Amino acid sequence: MTRDDIRKALAEIIEREMDRGISFWSDAEWNEAARRYVGSESPDPAPSRAVTARTAPAPSATSGTTASRGATPRPAPARMATPRAATAPPPAASRPAAPASPSIAPQPAAAAAPAKAANRPAFPAPPQAVDRKAQWEADLARLSRETISCKGCGLHETRTNVVFASGNGRVPLVFIGEAPGADEDAQGEAFVGRAGQLLTKIIAAIGLDRKEVYICNVLKCRPPGNRVPHPEEIQACRPFLERQLEILKPRAICALGLTATQWMLESKAPMGQLRGRIFRYREIPLLPTYHPAALLRNPALKRAVWEDMLVLRKLLDEGPPVRSTIAPVPEANERKPRAESGDLFA
Ligand code: URA
Repeated sequence: MTRDDIRKALAEIIEREMDRGISFWSDAEWNEAARRYVGSESPDPAPSRAVTARTAPAPSATSGTTASRGATPRPAPARMATPRAATAPPPAASRPAAPASPSIAPQPAAAAAPAKAANRPAFPAPPQAVDRKAQWEADLARLSRETISCKGCGLHETRTNVVFASGNGRVPLVFIGEAPGADEDAQGEAFVGRAGQLLTKIIAAIGLDRKEVYICNVLKCRPPGNRVPHPEEIQACRPFLERQLEILKPRAICALGLTATQWMLESKAPMGQLRGRIFRYREIPLLPTYHPAALLRNPALKRAVWEDMLVLRKLLDEGPPVRSTIAPVPEANERKPRAESGDLFA
């Protein structure tokens, strides 16, 4: 056996392991990636062992038509990290030299490796990041004026500002949160408080600028004390978000947290069952992930969100996945009650 044969055999073993969802990240590498990609505060609690299994696909209510993660046997080489690469490559400095074997699929390193100077990965601009502004500017401005004068529910009595959205939507990606918090209510802009600052980092982690995507909420007015929105408030506000999405026609939607996810999917399944899977909202690929406020409370969730962001970026780069990989909406389980008020946006 020549050295090349040995190298090739080893490369094949590694590739098989990666296909099974095994990643070869050390704790230190993971910590570094979490710090680098999803925030500068203390990194995630690292996996306890150096070899960690990728999150298993969530159970499907129906048959084998599950989401892309875990269900796709062997993703084609992509311009960015694939769901397999949710266990993304370690930073270049600590990455071992890639085996020379051609049987190792192109690593996403070029896409996901940190940019030289900036503290963010060098993703290429998404293909549709063109100036589509003119198409919807007038329609959104009209809708925004309507929203501002809305008195469809009791929240108009306590709001300081209606929070219509944030970002210019040049990149056809929409993030949807729950409702404005105190900072957003004060400033009239979505996701500008602590959760918003973390969202900004999350968006930057996939090479985008928050000013270029579109960020909005299920509710346009702040529920007092940041309590969970009431069903009648969600109902009253529904047409505004529906119309925002109709006007924008994004290429992908990311639902942040349970309220937005349940709004979009009309499912009562818990976040753990929904996140990271690709669904559809009126034909638009929809990816639920944890709300940034949940990450502030529980930084261990950052890893899952980082994985989900890679799936999201791939959706932007490559377009919708084949229909058979779209997840069916899970059966309605009862939603766990959440505190009526509290520090969700603290
Ligand atoms: N949380 C949300 O869901 N939306 C905001 O705009 C701010 C915090």
